[in-house]
Amino acid sequence: MKFDKAKKNLGQNFLTDPNILRKIFNEIAPKEKETIIEIGSGHGALTELLSQSGVKIISFEIDTNLFNEVRNKIPNVNFVNEDFLKFNLADFKSKRKFRVVGNIPYNITSPIVFKLIENINLIKDAVFLIQKEVAERIIAKPRTKEYGILSVLLSYFADVKLAFNVSPNVFIPKPKVFSSVIHIHFKQKREDIDEELFRKIVKASFNYRRKTLKNSLLNSIFKNCNFENLDFDFNKRAEELSVADYVRLTKSLMGILNGNERNTATTA
Ligand code: SAM
Repeated sequence: MKFDKAKKNLGQNFLTDPNILRKIFNEIAPKEKETIIEIGSGHGALTELLSQSGVKIISFEIDTNLFNEVRNKIPNVNFVNEDFLKFNLADFKSKRKFRVVGNIPYNITSPIVFKLIENINLIKDAVFLIQKEVAERIIAKPRTKEYGILSVLLSYFADVKLAFNVSPNVFIPKPKVFSSVIHIHFKQKREDIDEELFRKIVKASFNYRRKTLKNSLLNSIFKNCNFENLDFDFNKRAEELSVADYVRLTKSLMGILNGNERNTATTA
């Protein structure tokens, strides 16, 4: 294995400790007839363990050299030499929801999470090794500096468990930060709201987290709208709102977004 040729821009920090790999495998706990999508096979450390469990595995690897290495090494895995972020998951036909796993490239953690949320109807859960600091942001509570888009969206769309922390010493090359394994269980039953609008509202609110909601929303997705008659305190800032508050906010804003007004709303 050529660990020395790791590409930093692709987040290539390879796991080398069999105990940690086993712990991640145990957290995934694959079951018969499941289909697991892995993001970033790398040299195949986790892929190999998963393949031994006999479940169906689709493993994405963007780096063609690594893709060629693993597909010649590990049988019974559907390796895909593509960018996970650009792939249309609906192209995979499956009667069951997918499970998604990986020691993912840390620089694209948020886009990966957003992609899973957009495809929530196809996905059961996800087990990811991510940067510890990002795991702390995901489970953060309102009125803390860690609380942000990931905290609100994942709290609404999923139940998240912080499984365990991982030292930089078990990777080659060693990252500068600690890591954590998180388990995201997507919620099947959620509020009866426009969830696309909910996502836009949360993103727009935190994109201007120092401003009041009134300013951040009127300057982004709600241009030309009037909030005056709505029963909501728009003088608050993004980090002061709980997930329930964002749901309530979405419900009241769904009311004013109709007819022509709806057409003027743009993505933040
Ligand atoms: N699973 C291996 C392990 O644990 O040792 C590799 C983990 S490494 C942190 C992340 C892997 O994801 C790298 O092999 C990298 O080339 C690959 N990768 C980076 N961006 C990707 C993308 N957008 N789509 C698919 N794979 C990607």
